[in-house]
Amino acid sequence: MSLKTALFTINGIILSLFIILSASYIYTTDLLDTEAQQLVDAGESISLAKNLKSKLLTHNRYSFLYSLHKSPKRLEGRQQQRFEINKHLIELRRLVNSEDETTLLKQVKNDIYTYFEKRDQLNTSKLSPVEQYIKASILIDSLEVSVDKLIQINRSQLNTLIASVNKQNKIADRLAVSLLAIGAIIILLITAGIIWAVYRPLMSLSKVIAKYKAGNTQIRAEKYLLKEINALSENFNLMANSIDEKQRDQLQFIASIAHDLRNPLNSISMASEMLLDKHPNTTHATIISNQTKHLDRLVSDLLDTARIESGQLDLTPQACDIKKIIKDSIELYQLSSSIHKLKLSLPDYPLICKCDASRISQVINNLISNAIKYSPNGGTIQITAIYETNDIIISIQDQGIGIAEQDQVNIFKPFHRTKSTKGTIPGIGLGLSSSKKIIEHHQGKLKVESQAGHGSIFKIILPAMANTQYLDKAIPKSKLNYDLQP
Ligand code: ADP
Repeated sequence: MSLKTALFTINGIILSLFIILSASYIYTTDLLDTEAQQLVDAGESISLAKNLKSKLLTHNRYSFLYSLHKSPKRLEGRQQQRFEINKHLIELRRLVNSEDETTLLKQVKNDIYTYFEKRDQLNTSKLSPVEQYIKASILIDSLEVSVDKLIQINRSQLNTLIASVNKQNKIADRLAVSLLAIGAIIILLITAGIIWAVYRPLMSLSKVIAKYKAGNTQIRAEKYLLKEINALSENFNLMANSIDEKQRDQLQFIASIAHDLRNPLNSISMASEMLLDKHPNTTHATIISNQTKHLDRLVSDLLDTARIESGQLDLTPQACDIKKIIKDSIELYQLSSSIHKLKLSLPDYPLICKCDASRISQVINNLISNAIKYSPNGGTIQITAIYETNDIIISIQDQGIGIAEQDQVNIFKPFHRTKSTKGTIPGIGLGLSSSKKIIEHHQGKLKVESQAGHGSIFKIILPAMANTQYLDKAIPKSKLNYDLQP
């Protein structure tokens, strides 16, 4: 699924929820509005009907008083009541909302008109005002029954409406709670979905990239659900594969060069040996022989490095004294530079380690050659080896250009060279990477401590063989150092 589709789906769900919420809200408020209006109407009908009753009584009273005194004021009062009774009837007509009510109102209206008619007839009759009043009151009493019925109908309508409004309110409450709950669940699901489909894969991809950056070049990203993240992961894998392929080509190239150098070097080596045999005491023959051996060693190391980097690392571990390996390396490099002084500090006791001597020698050679190479202004190169809590620690310290903190992890990766050395000091960036591999295959560690411009210390930590342990405290530290060069 693509992120776009996922976003559309999520938006669709939210929009639908919003539409349902709005429609329910509008429906509920409309319903409540209508019922509230009906409530008001029913209340108004009740009050009009009650008023109607009192107006009829007042009308009868004014008629009685007019029969007594014939005063125009009473007549006017009586007409006023009649007018208001008619007005009330019109108002009540407007408020009726059921067939029963309509029928009842019609009957009330007819009864009232009959009353008016009869009241007028009574006024012109020969009956005394009191008799007229009593007869009219009887008519009003029978009329009151139907008015009371009208009130009753409106009261029961009022009660039904109140019950219905209460019910609507409860439904609205339940609807709101359900919508809130659904909303909360959807938000939770969306959050969980984002965490599961976006955050988690991105974190896993970033971990893969971090591991790759730290040197695990075999690591690859997995497949992910979202197309876009999957595209990232596939691109990362393609990039890693292409880097891998390039590195393989580079290693192949280096290996073939080293291999091609081998044959002419063998011939030179044989010729130099013959020259040395013929002229054993000549400096030139000795120099040619020594330097040919050195060159042969370098080419062998280069070939080995190419093999190690392409995954072919065969070790033949044997118990050997690290001191001997270090001394051999120093011998190899001590005359290689006139501006560098190689100083060696070794303990009196043997430093026994189970290792492949030629590989460890390759590492020490590489570190000493780097110490010389990256100290272009010369200086002392201090090589120390000690035994410390079951480990043999070999350190090679120079006074050279040093390594900035951010480069210290990268220099152990194949073909990595720091910016400060790239264009100025020759190298291919494989020595430290293969050295690290060799040491780690011996269950050891290769570390660097450095500061740009203040030299570097490379430390090889190798597990010592058990028989070295008893020497730890037996030999005082002061006895451990001696200089190779006086
Ligand atoms: P190379 O020397 O062929 O470049 P290495 O793997 O031996 O390859 O070293 C990798 C990088 O580490 C070098 O290019 C250099 O920048 C840095 N480096 C190694 N040793 C030292 C050192 N002793 N002092 C300063 N920089 C060093």
